[in-house]
Amino acid sequence: MSKVIVITGASSGIGEASAALLAADGHKLVLGARRQDKLQAVAARVEEAGGQVAYAVTDVRQNAEVAALAQLTLDRFGRIDVWINNAGIMPQAPFMAGTVDEWDSAIDINIKGVIYGINAALPQMVAQKSGQIINVASVEGHHSHVGGGVYSGTKYAVRAISDSLREEMAQLEGHLRCTVISPGAVTTELLESVADDGIKERYEDFYATHGIPADRVATTIKQAIDLPEDTAWNEVVMRPIKQVL
Ligand code: NDP
Repeated sequence: MSKVIVITGASSGIGEASAALLAADGHKLVLGARRQDKLQAVAARVEEAGGQVAYAVTDVRQNAEVAALAQLTLDRFGRIDVWINNAGIMPQAPFMAGTVDEWDSAIDINIKGVIYGINAALPQMVAQKSGQIINVASVEGHHSHVGGGVYSGTKYAVRAISDSLREEMAQLEGHLRCTVISPGAVTTELLESVADDGIKERYEDFYATHGIPADRVATTIKQAIDLPEDTAWNEVVMRPIKQVL
């Protein structure tokens, strides 16, 4: 069945790969991110492949912009079947570096962006009595390490928020599903958000030997969507097989 699917952070990486795969699967896509040129290019590729797509420049730090993305979806396609809160950044630095601006950005994008997405999609899904919210967390939402405290904190938060959402959905009428996808190292543009050169270099080395392509996560998202409507994967934790933590 063709679904209407919204993806935040659709201009690169996991969001871009998911847009391509889900459109090829016959779903209608609405894409949000900040870089218009990239969004436009992703949308053009979807259209060239015969898919239906809309996009809007959206900064998930702004509740009004996230709400506008939901409204665009309703105006264009009349419903919201799946909302994927994927937009994220991964700043890494020890607390002693005092990178307060990065902490603020990570919290605003990775946590508040997710809550704004839930706020934009849930009322429509409740009215439809069906819908699925997919939140992209991380294996770093399961463990933390020096330099990753704030990023991990945001991803632990995504899992906590999703748990509460899942329980609330279970108490509501209809087929409402919440799924967390927690990947390990995936080769995307994410390392661009690591400002510290030394830490970035270590990550680049690790990703060069361990990283898996973004379409692995896209495939998992597709499988989570394809499950029977009365069943949900509550969380999928997935890693390259050589990744230890
Ligand atoms: P990318 O950097 O390739 O993609 C991140 C996306 O988020 C981009 O499309 C970017 O678009 C968007 N984004 C960033 N800030 C904002 C904002 N303020 N408003 C709207 N969109 C924003 O990395 P990934 O594909 O890897 O990241 C996707 C998700 O996967 C993130 O949540 C990340 O934490 C998670 N993840 C990634 C892992 C990995 O190893 N790659 C591992 C575990 C989790 P734009 O700049 O145009 O706004």
